[in-house]
Amino acid sequence: MLLDAPGTKLREAEIRRPELRPGEVRLRVGACGVCRTDLHIRDGELADAKLPLVLGHQIVGTVIEGDALAAGSRVGVPWLGWTCGTCRYCRTGRENLCDRARFTGYTLDGGYAEEAVADARYCLPLPDGPSDEQLAPLLCAGLIGYRALRAAGDGEIVGLYGFGAAAHLVAQLAVHEGRRVLAFTRPGDVAAQSLAREVGAEWAGAVGERPEELDAAIIFAPAGELVPQALAAVAKGGTVVCAGIHMSPIPSFPYELLWGERVLRSVANLTREDGRELFRAVAEHPVRAAVETFPLTAAEEALDRLRDGAIRGAAVLTV
Ligand SMILES: [Zn+2]
Ligand SMILES: [Zn+2]
Repeated sequence: MLLDAPGTKLREAEIRRPELRPGEVRLRVGACGVCRTDLHIRDGELADAKLPLVLGHQIVGTVIEGDALAAGSRVGVPWLGWTCGTCRYCRTGRENLCDRARFTGYTLDGGYAEEAVADARYCLPLPDGPSDEQLAPLLCAGLIGYRALRAAGDGEIVGLYGFGAAAHLVAQLAVHEGRRVLAFTRPGDVAAQSLAREVGAEWAGAVGERPEELDAAIIFAPAGELVPQALAAVAKGGTVVCAGIHMSPIPSFPYELLWGERVLRSVANLTREDGRELFRAVAEHPVRAAVETFPLTAAEEALDRLRDGAIRGAAVLTV
């Protein structure tokens, strides 16, 4: 499924099968998750995409060609597709910030396809048990949620703002860690609130119906107005993490909301170490993804439903 230009519909297309370069592998795609970032690229909210482009950065695939990985092995291809290895960020364990990084399904072709090519060094080994559809959402929603939870610190009470693919996975990780999870959704979003309770949130309701002070807040919804609201909800010393790649402008707010050593930060991308840690954690405490599957050719419909907030959990294309 090919994106010719931002703002246009994805279309079915036959493209040239790329030659493998050294270190690359060819995968048969089993499933590919649909992420809000795909929607931002599709709608032109993120500039500088490769065009035409195959979207998709939550690829579960089987190696069919290439010397770098055993044929037949199942691997995951996440957003981080390549880094330079030599810059100040790469040399200090922060490859997620590499200025020259290339990203799957954005500046590299991704997984809304029958086959994909990936640099073997950035492929993640996956546990054996879960299905392709179950694993796909972990490769971005799960990873960014995991990184955001680490950035949020060790506080006991964690508020999740926007309860979609990432939140429903990170909620399970947080509960495994013995934390209490409160889920904040749009008013009346009963589907998201019931999903939140199913995956272990002790409270779910609308933003503003704050039951108690939070130790940390993670904002997954791309709505800048949530930032001052989340700051107002965290206790002194608490952290507010913005976990999205794109957010509408943040309204100005009184300094009082930040005072008391509150921290406001973002998380960007992922490192391969995040991936290894997440899949280790998941092997110990499996998480269950709520998944809505679509055939590959219905990618545009999946994106439409995501834009409308109609997906319960994560959308996944099955190939
Ligand atoms: Zn670098
Ligand atoms: Zn993503």
